[in-house]
Amino acid sequence: MIDLRSDTLTKPTEAMRAAMAAAEVGDDVYGEDPTVAALEERVAEMFGHEAALFMPTGSMSNVLAVRSLVQPGQEVLCESSAHIARAELGAHGAYSGVTMRTWTHPRGHVDLAAVRSLYAPDMGPFFVRTAAVSVENTHNFAGGTVLPIDLLRDLREWATGVGVGIHLDGARIWNAHVATGTPFAEYGATADVLSVCLSKGLGAPVGSVLVGSADTVAESRIWRKRMGGGMRQVGILAAGGLHALDHHVERLADDHAHAQLLAEACGVDPAGVETNIVVVERHDAASYVERAAAQGVRVATVGPTTVRMVTHLGVSRADVDRAARALADLTAS
Ligand SMILES: *Cc1c(COP(=O)(O)O)cnc(C)c1O
Repeated sequence: MIDLRSDTLTKPTEAMRAAMAAAEVGDDVYGEDPTVAALEERVAEMFGHEAALFMPTGSMSNVLAVRSLVQPGQEVLCESSAHIARAELGAHGAYSGVTMRTWTHPRGHVDLAAVRSLYAPDMGPFFVRTAAVSVENTHNFAGGTVLPIDLLRDLREWATGVGVGIHLDGARIWNAHVATGTPFAEYGATADVLSVCLSKGLGAPVGSVLVGSADTVAESRIWRKRMGGGMRQVGILAAGGLHALDHHVERLADDHAHAQLLAEACGVDPAGVETNIVVVERHDAASYVERAAAQGVRVATVGPTTVRMVTHLGVSRADVDRAARALADLTAS
């Protein structure tokens, strides 16, 4: 089986396992795990922020990042198919008392005109006030699209002017960087707080990192513990993340090239595929998934008529060639 359902399916390589086994560890709740500290320092510096915090999941990282900007009873604005809106099961409302309103863009981009018209300033104690805007880069459900840096800079300028915070869900910011060459620090400069995942295309088994100011990180460390996310000798996992940063970032270009081949095979315009995610609109999505599986290719639906396939380090060029042949046959039939 060639498994293209998600880039979360990667398994640690032998070299990553060796790095994890050799990690120096300590009790991170006591602040004594040197490998966790090294990862946090490294990621903070990459994005040009003061500090960072190792998190068990991207979802918890997003929840704590958004709550650092938005008080209970205030709102965050986001795109309507954002992960925070569609795939975090209401956590921002359930845990943080945060409400959301959304704009819609077919490629998941920031629409500053829409943001400005949604924006609610402080109008007294009867209205929900906009405290933050959240953007996702790359945008998962829009098909791994890259948010143009110019739009992010315009949003930053507007948000600073009105006193609204910016959260970047950078689960796949690595893919955006590899696709565009935009330095991580430039993405970092467009947000107050970021969340980045080590367990997607980077191939670590577990882990995300919240990045922001020293104050935000200190406060988020308390919230992480409060939510049951205080972790002990977790340098073992952080070592997987450090290994991934050393060895698995530039290789994402291979995943992007592989996605181009799959797009062609599925009759999707490769020009619309910017990174490692291919979205195929099929009225027969469920049966397409079954027929692909019968040919040895696992893909998944992410909507009633939407099939998603994701390339990753567990899928070789030979696998992609074989999957492309099988999918091309399905597309033709
Ligand atoms: C995967 C993902 C997350 C975090 O997911 P977890 O499974 O909680 O680690 C957040 N945002 C986006 C865009 C994602 O794709």
